[in-house]
Parts: sequence; structure tokens; C-alpha cells
Amino acid sequence: MGDYVLRCPRGEAVRDSIFDLACPSGHEGLLRTEYSAVRMVPREFAGIYKFCDWLPVRSVLDTRSAPVAFQSRRISKELGLKNLWIGFTGYYPERGAYTASCSFKEMEALPTYSRVNDFGGGTVLLASAGNTARAFAQVAGETGGRCLIVVPKRSAGKLKVTKDTGSVRLFAVNGDYADAIEMSERIAALGGFIPEGGARNVARRDGMGTVLLEGVLAMGRLPDHYFQAVGSGTGAISAWEASMRLVRDGRFGNRLPSLNLSQNLPFVPMMRAWNAGRRNISKEDLEDYADGICQIYADVLTNRRPPYGVPGGVFDALSACGGKFFGISEAEAVSAGKLWSSAESASLDPAANVALASLIQAAERNMISCEDTVFLNITGGGTDRAEEELGLTAILPEACLNKDISGEDLRGAIHE
Ligand SMILES: *Cc1c(COP(=O)(O)O)cnc(C)c1O
Repeated sequence: MGDYVLRCPRGEAVRDSIFDLACPSGHEGLLRTEYSAVRMVPREFAGIYKFCDWLPVRSVLDTRSAPVAFQSRRISKELGLKNLWIGFTGYYPERGAYTASCSFKEMEALPTYSRVNDFGGGTVLLASAGNTARAFAQVAGETGGRCLIVVPKRSAGKLKVTKDTGSVRLFAVNGDYADAIEMSERIAALGGFIPEGGARNVARRDGMGTVLLEGVLAMGRLPDHYFQAVGSGTGAISAWEASMRLVRDGRFGNRLPSLNLSQNLPFVPMMRAWNAGRRNISKEDLEDYADGICQIYADVLTNRRPPYGVPGGVFDALSACGGKFFGISEAEAVSAGKLWSSAESASLDPAANVALASLIQAAERNMISCEDTVFLNITGGGTDRAEEELGLTAILPEACLNKDISGEDLRGAIHE
């Protein structure tokens, strides 16, 4: 298993504790794992745990779920790229992909639950409107891990898993995603839960990093360019961190891949801040869509508080690797989705369509050369097939909470 220390981007080593992944010096930076294993050596464990030497876990869960990497002759030909590799996380049996919750969020949920077990168990608390909820509920349902999920009312009923062992509790909130987050903060304050930690959670980041690890196993080298659609940008930070480990390994090249990150127009706050050369997302980066977020095509990409400026965050990742942001319209994403469907049989998550559209743009504008090794992170897909083949059950909310519920009533609803 991964033997490691946690280190602050300023250099200080930090004692490992699941509950508090903040740097004790009060520094805002993202703590990072530093593994004693220098080389990437896949192990005999199933699913994502073949990379357990580079996961912050001491135990493995029984799962088939893992990213896959492959080349698509037709997509490569369409784009005129000779060395295009695709990392895919989702449900696509023909390509060996069996991630039932259909996105790379499951790669975050699996090692997080291993850590929860490593630290003595507990109930993971999260607020989510989409793929994160589905991933954590899937892993919890499959492995008996416990979680309490808070979702906005309109997402209740959409949460589906292959197996529900009764360990997943779901609460809806009469309000939007921001209200669900606020409610989860109130529930956290009641005590007794493990907040999943977001981008600070090293299990989430190193779990996402396995997509690139799988890619590098297939490619035999680090790519020149990495493409991904981002909302929080945590996947991009993970790719940077995984790349640094792979450079240190020594067998895959010594250049970090450039990070080519895409957001869905008009919600492109990180793109605006980056293009203006700012380390911080300002108010004006977020304006224009005060109430427009739910109308965004790829709504998993709408994060208002991404770990962009924090030390070890997206700004530092892009500064270290080079690269750029792409703003992709819905029409461009939909047209990329059509190209994909003409070549491959699994459908894509809207966010993955955005990523593919950004690659199409980069190829058309000669921003990359046809000989370059390119890695496209397809972060989600296959929901329609999973729906047909996996016999999903919906998890129903225990209650729909009003935003202004009293502390006492909330405690009653949660601890009944
Ligand atoms: C969450 C999500 C993203 C964005 O990931 P981040 O790296 O956290 O910004 C992209 N695609 C899909 C399918 C997602 O669920």
C-alpha cells in the first residue's frame, strides 16, 4: 500500500489525519502526498487499486472500477492526430470500463472510502448536485460504507446506484446547489460526520490522478499535452501531481505535459482569471450568470469556488506545466459529441464533450502538432448503457428540508 508523508507545498511535512487536511501552519496550500515508492509498478489488486502504491490508502476495496486508456482510430483520423490517446472513466464494457457511476468521480470516492476504513470508519458527508453524489453513493452502496448526501430538490430522484445496502442517506433541500452546500455545513456542525474534504482530500486527488497513470502505462511515456474539462480544476491539479511523480520515476520522460483545460461558456471564471494573469478569481469573473448556472449545458463544470489561487492549486499547476484555457460553447460541445458517437459506442457526459471540443479546436488551429502525443481525459460516459444494463435503483430522500429549518428540527431530522 502507499507508504507516504503529507507535505505542504511550502515544504513542511505534516502528520496524516483524515479529518483535517489543512496545513497546521495556517497556510492555505493543498497538502500533497509524497510516496516512498519512486516507480510506478502496477500491483495485482483489482480496479483502481492496482495503483495502490500511489494512493494514500492502507486497505483496498473490492471493485472492478478503474480508468481505461485506448486509441480510437476514427477519432485520431478525424482530428489528424497520430498519437492521440484517450483516458476513459465510465461504463463502456467493450473497452473494459466498468465504472457504474459513469464518471471519474468514482476514482475519488474509492480511495476516500479506503481512508475512511483505514481511520476507523464513519459517515462521509457531502453536498452535490451530480456526479460526486452518484460516485460516493455507488461506492458506499457497493461496499457498505456510510454516507449522508445533501442535494438540491431538483436533483432528488436522480441518484441511482447498482446496489443499495441502506448505508446511503439522502436529504433534499428546498433550494439550489448553494443552499445544499449551506445545509451540509450546518449538518457538519452537528458533529459525527466526516466531510469529504473536496480538493484538499488527497485521496480524491490521487484517485483522479490514476487516469493519467493508466494513460502512461498505455503510452509508455508522458504525453506532450493533457486535455480535460474542468469545474473545480481538481483533476488538472491531480494530473500535474501525477506527472511530477512520473517524472521522478524517470522512465517516462522529464517534461510535464501542458495542461489544456476547458470550461463551458458562458461560465468560464478560471479562464477569465488565467487570461488576465490573475491568481485570484474576482467578482467580475463570476458575473453574467448569477442565476444562469442551471442553464449551463455541462453543469458539473460550474464551480464558484474552485481551488484556483491557493498554493498548489490550478494557477500553480498551469504555471508549472504551461498550457491554456479553452471556452467552449454548447454548440461546439454538442458537435464534438456527434463526432464521438460516430466513432465509439459509449455516450459521453456533457463535460467530456466539452473536453473533446477543446481538442478539436486545438487541432484545427494548429495549436498542437500532428506528431505530438496527446492525452484526452474523457471524464465521464456510458450513462445510457449503464441504465439499460446494470439495473439501477434510485435512492429516495428521507426528507426535503426547508432552507430555514430550525437547528432543533434539523438535528431531529438527521439523528432520528
Ligand atoms: C466533476 C467533473 C469534471 C470536472 O472535474 P474537476 O477536475 O473537478 O474540475 C469533469 N467531468 C466530469 C464528468 C465530472 O463529473
